[in-house]
Amino acid sequence: MEAKKGILMVISGFSGAGKGTLIKKLLENYDNYALSVSMTTRQPREGEQDGREYFFVTREKFEKTIAESGLIEYATYCDNYYGTPKAWVEEQLAAGKDVILEIEIQGALQIKEKFPESLLLFVTPPDAAELKRRLEGRGTETAEVIAKRLSRAYEESEGMDAYDYIVINDDLMQCVRELHAMIEAARNEPVRRKDFIARIKEEMKTFRTEQ
Ligand code: 5GP
Repeated sequence: MEAKKGILMVISGFSGAGKGTLIKKLLENYDNYALSVSMTTRQPREGEQDGREYFFVTREKFEKTIAESGLIEYATYCDNYYGTPKAWVEEQLAAGKDVILEIEIQGALQIKEKFPESLLLFVTPPDAAELKRRLEGRGTETAEVIAKRLSRAYEESEGMDAYDYIVINDDLMQCVRELHAMIEAARNEPVRRKDFIARIKEEMKTFRTEQ
């Protein structure tokens, strides 16, 4: 029988759409998911730990990792590099884990190109006004930062069509269940069951009769 390989999935979404909380709940409620930790050149924020939120590295180290083909994708975002370390992702997939990459759209498109069987999910609130309300409600950002993020959200909305599923985050727990159900359903799409299809097609040949 075919080895059970995990699904490589990308979760992107507008800043303020609740993507982080959604992923946290997914990891808490189901045990087959593994969240990749990216490498970045940006400075750690208050409370962030090296190796937990990100691997915080210098530009030199990042560029060396690119040169050594150590990343499966990378992008620049607001003047910093962000990238996904290759070895860990490959290990987890081989062990049958469904690997989540929480990355932005340039990275998502590279992943789809390199791994056509990857699953691209985009998290959005039900409408634009709700996104603004959520960003303002957090009370952690200045009006200027909020305006920047909303403008960035406009740009990101232009790329939503490239994703496999849109995840509308209205009620959080309902959204977590829906997201999990989407991933489970995606497991049996032919693009992800190529080995199974190849085997059963071979087996069926024994039933062939010449017409
Ligand atoms: P932040 O600086 O707010 O943590 O992240 C900024 C953006 O970079 C977010 O949209 C986040 O999803 C994205 N990001 C984080 N890690 C990666 C990565 O490894 N690759 C890419 N392409 N984007 C990433």
